[in-house]
Amino acid sequence: MELPFLSIGEASRLIKKKEISPKELTESVLDRISKLDGKLNSYITVMAEKACDAAKRAEEEISSGAYRGPLHGIPLGLKDIFVMKGVPATCGSKMLENFFPPYDATVTKKILDAGAVIIGKNNMDEFAMGSSTETSYFGPTKNPWDIERVPGGSSGGSAAATAASLCLGSVGTDTGGSIRQPASFCGVVGMKPTYGRVSRFGMIAFASSLDQAGPITKTVEDTALILNAISGHDPRDSTCVNTPAPDFTLSLKDGLKGVKVGVPGEYFIPGMDKEVEEAAKKAIALVGDLGGEIIGISLPHTEYAVLTYYIIAPSEASSNLARYDGVKYGFRAADAGTLRDMYFRTRAEGFGDEVKRRIMLGTYALSAGYYDAYYLKAQRVRTLIKRDFDEAFEKVDVIMAPTAPEVAFRFGEKTGDPIKMYLSDVLTIPCNIAGLPGISIPCGFSTDGLPIGIQVLGKPFDEGSVIHVAHAYEQHAGWKERRPGI
Ligand code: GLN
Repeated sequence: MELPFLSIGEASRLIKKKEISPKELTESVLDRISKLDGKLNSYITVMAEKACDAAKRAEEEISSGAYRGPLHGIPLGLKDIFVMKGVPATCGSKMLENFFPPYDATVTKKILDAGAVIIGKNNMDEFAMGSSTETSYFGPTKNPWDIERVPGGSSGGSAAATAASLCLGSVGTDTGGSIRQPASFCGVVGMKPTYGRVSRFGMIAFASSLDQAGPITKTVEDTALILNAISGHDPRDSTCVNTPAPDFTLSLKDGLKGVKVGVPGEYFIPGMDKEVEEAAKKAIALVGDLGGEIIGISLPHTEYAVLTYYIIAPSEASSNLARYDGVKYGFRAADAGTLRDMYFRTRAEGFGDEVKRRIMLGTYALSAGYYDAYYLKAQRVRTLIKRDFDEAFEKVDVIMAPTAPEVAFRFGEKTGDPIKMYLSDVLTIPCNIAGLPGISIPCGFSTDGLPIGIQVLGKPFDEGSVIHVAHAYEQHAGWKERRPGI
């Protein structure tokens, strides 16, 4: 098999046995990027030289016996939302086009400490706002299964690069579905850990109470390997909890006897793509055949999740994005006469339309007189949504449902209608609102050959059960080996 097609698990076992070298693996991935990324646009920055140096270092360490673990010498992508010292971190925006961060995000540092080779920064929707990677200032990423279609978003670059083997895996972020939805559209695995499991330090903020980093990989095993590396307490992020992270590879077990799997009726929404519905139901039936006990449940406030999200997320975004004023970071408009003029023009020229829309929505929702009616009310509904899950998890261990109501759509299909775009996340958002862990894994293909995803959600800090169910299903489902023919 060509080296870039290996999973992280496979590659790392070969590296450990010294049957392949990090250098040849990294070079083969870089080679594939130079051949294919002109078509896909899954990277904003490719760090060929730095990656080769890192691979060489990994090789020297491994041959001298200083093996660091399963990510040692593995070429990974990183969504361009994580800062890395001396490498541009654009967040998909003109505003940060020339921003060279002076430090590493905790995720970046942990990946580097694990000995991984960061090969480049993946394309994304501007400031992670979007579901299709079409809002990137650096142009859209194409879906490797059909380049006329979107890869999903906002971590579309990470998902497309992983699916097309332009990295062995990547780390993305999920505020309302941005890891799971693109994973579903690109036929790969993507996991949003529990809020607080992974540090947000150095991860450019969108909506701070929802944002969470997580792996995008080819297999569930690979997700466990990356999650092991990036989890854990960080004193520099006060919302990163101080509970010990278990070894997630211990959850890679087969057989689901005794596992109670809840299926929420509300997630099979009217208007959902029939092929998606069928594939999801088949996947759930297989989980039943593997010993899982399938239990119908209700999450009655599901229909309010998108509405709640589009108050909370823009509100937090409007506050977080106030820092881009032309003084502290990145872009500054030229020839402004006054300070006020400079602020106005910098923000007018530096941000794209979707970001401006969110800032306006959020500023409105937080303004005096409207705060109680919108933001406070949304926070109350948030509690109701969380309570639905608490009650469901008294009866079940995990919840299974489709990741998105559709397969990858065509470019331009939703850009003219923001509400249509927002509804792409109708099934992923509740998990963020409640702060739960969730994984999306491939569960079939449409007649057009487009991937379909199913998600498994778990109790807070019980990523283990989520990984167990996803892995057991993956072993028997038969989608793991299917790759885009690009
Ligand atoms: N698509 C959602 C949004 O536009 C979620 C994005 C995300 O998870 N970063 O806000």
